[in-house]
Amino acid sequence: MAVIVQKYGGSSVADIEKIFHVARRVAKTAAGGNQVAVVVSAMGDTTDELLALAKQIMPNPPRRELAMLLSTGEQVSIALLAMALTALGYEAVSFTGPQAGVKTKGDHLEARIIAFEAERVKAALAAGKIAVVAGFQGARPDGEICTLGRGGSDTTAVALAAALGAETCEIYTDVDGIFTVDPRLVDNASKIAQITYDEMLELASLGAKVLHPRAVECAKEHGVLLHVRSSFHEKPGTIVEEVAGMEKEAVVRGIACDEDQVKIALRGVPDKPGVAARIFTAIGEAGINVDLIVQSLRRNGENDILFTISEEDFAEAIAILTPLTAEIGAKELLHEHNLAKISVIGAGMIHQAGVAAKMFDALAKAGINIEIISTSEIKISCLIDADRIQDAARAIHDYFQL
Ligand code: ASP
Ligand code: MG
Repeated sequence: MAVIVQKYGGSSVADIEKIFHVARRVAKTAAGGNQVAVVVSAMGDTTDELLALAKQIMPNPPRRELAMLLSTGEQVSIALLAMALTALGYEAVSFTGPQAGVKTKGDHLEARIIAFEAERVKAALAAGKIAVVAGFQGARPDGEICTLGRGGSDTTAVALAAALGAETCEIYTDVDGIFTVDPRLVDNASKIAQITYDEMLELASLGAKVLHPRAVECAKEHGVLLHVRSSFHEKPGTIVEEVAGMEKEAVVRGIACDEDQVKIALRGVPDKPGVAARIFTAIGEAGINVDLIVQSLRRNGENDILFTISEEDFAEAIAILTPLTAEIGAKELLHEHNLAKISVIGAGMIHQAGVAAKMFDALAKAGINIEIISTSEIKISCLIDADRIQDAARAIHDYFQL
């Protein structure tokens, strides 16, 4: 008997009718002779609404109490889905993250899963029941309830699939799968049938919001096959897996667009060991993600250091960097807003020369200026004017005939 894990996102369980729709879909999989464990997110915009309630009390609520509050969202969905399954005549049992055996460590709101001790879930499945597990939450060894960071239900689902040795982890969402580019930007975007973990990781980290990057990391590590598909119809979506030969074919698999980027520049930084480490340690310790780092050629014993962050981290970054600029003896702290990052991703790039040249050519033909370039083995990113992001996405998508 195959074990299948299915995860349904907030939009798929947004109201009672949708919960019944999910229940029927789960029931069908169970009736097909599978053991099914379901992971659900909070209904619709519940998590945002709970956050808004907390902010009415104070701008910066204690993280512990926020985790306590946000974890209730998923608890509502599991109970309602288990009831819907029961109403359809199936035996179902719901589990909170801690009950399901999700052991976490670290911060209350950005916890990481250290182990999934799924004995209770396994016992429920063995007894012929459908297990319904709350995504996005777990408990630390000291008993503290924690959440896994926004979008963390995907990670719960993958970790559960790994713990159960499940054949597939199906991620049900409100789109048809992973697309070559955001369909809201480019109307002839096409659905990707198959993608490697590394490509998916780049796409997920770079702004394709369909899958949580940590879920992809976890799937890669445990060899869990992911199937990202729509909860509204039966058509297959996108399979994320490691396939020999896949790399060679698609030089460029997809395009990721990340808007709301800010460029920060430290001008006239003394050129000596340890300065970059100080800057990026301070930023990193605040949990701010940095991308596209550039250091200019040395002049008179000084460098300029530039990097990008997302707009939401801007205020905090400036608060950290303002005193630091003086401490390290840099001349000036500058910033520029309204930028976007566009990236092409493909595992086949490793073996193919000239992909970067083609991307730059596509941008040049569209008259788009490139501010900063960065590359890795399987991606090339360019920072451009945010107002041109749609033109850039279209130009590159057409150029590579995706
Ligand atoms: N409900 C949580 C959120 O909205 C977790 C999730 O949906 O994956 O971030
Ligand atoms: Mg959500």
